[in-house]
Amino acid sequence: MRIFVCIKVVPDPERASEITLDPQTKTVRREGIPLVINPMDKNALEAALQVRAQQGGEVTVVSMGPPSVEEVLRQSLALGADRVALLCDRCLAGADTLATARTLAAGIEKLGGADLVFCGAESADGGTAQVGPQVAALLGMAHAVYATAFSLRDGIAEVTVKTEDGEKVLQGGLPLLVTVSREINQPRGIRFSEIVKARKKPFNVFTAADLSLAETCIGEQGSPTRIAGIADAKMERRGEILEGEPEEAVAKLMTILRREGAI
Ligand SMILES: Cc1cc2nc3c(=O)[nH]c(=O)nc-3n(C[C@H](O)[C@H](O)[C@H](O)COP(=O)(O)OP(=O)(O)OC[C@H]3O[C@@H](n4cnc5c(N)ncnc54)[C@H](O)[C@@H]3O)c2cc1C
Repeated sequence: MRIFVCIKVVPDPERASEITLDPQTKTVRREGIPLVINPMDKNALEAALQVRAQQGGEVTVVSMGPPSVEEVLRQSLALGADRVALLCDRCLAGADTLATARTLAAGIEKLGGADLVFCGAESADGGTAQVGPQVAALLGMAHAVYATAFSLRDGIAEVTVKTEDGEKVLQGGLPLLVTVSREINQPRGIRFSEIVKARKKPFNVFTAADLSLAETCIGEQGSPTRIAGIADAKMERRGEILEGEPEEAVAKLMTILRREGAI
């Protein structure tokens, strides 16, 4: 079983209040903020390790990022992944979600293709939730998003996904890409014995040329998204206490909901 996990290295979400935006370049200033594995990608890795334990196979982590993410990515080897592929090249910088997905899909193909791909449902910094489905479309495989449970029996996957109305259970064959929610599992911690083993596992770096990717479809050049402007979000919410007996308070609430067009 060829299992891939897409892992994004992000600024520590616990330190989110320290992240600022550069109004000139319209990019995120990440300097000085420690990097971590995107939290939902730890759940994605855990899901992959559980499938490998039941079905056998190999778990490959693939990530697009600058050289500075290497140390953090190596943690995935200590958590149990078999190998890491870091897709790293100056010309990949400035990628939007489509250019990111093209790069990740090319990385997966370069490494022999996948039966199963796990991603986080969304990243802690960009948070568009677009990359997983885009990778699936580029690889020509079915996908399920925001999974809260996953199992695989006789080549048929059963995935429980969150929907706006609750949950839905989907079934399908492989190949398949699944993006996972936090609820899907409890990621394991790093064991000392695994840190020692991790040192001997392959950590390969691939450039855009290695992936046979033209500069026009990757990085800033290959990104159709343009950031027109950036602004700090203003929090203008205010609380309102509706006084009176319950019936009276409910009547006031209904008036407000109608006035605001909510009902
Ligand atoms: C014009 C433009 C320029 C940008 N320039 C930069 C830049 O220079 N540097 C920069 O860091 N960001 C840049 N970004 C942001 C970058 O596009 C997104 O961070 C990236 O495409 C992933 O999108 P997301 O964070 O919304 O991922 P989501 O779709 O929310 O992520 C879902 C899942 O996809 C996988 N995934 C996402 N990104 C990666 C990755 N890189 N490697 C492996 N798996 C991944 C993970 O499993 C993740 O949990 C830019 C965005 C735009 C629009």
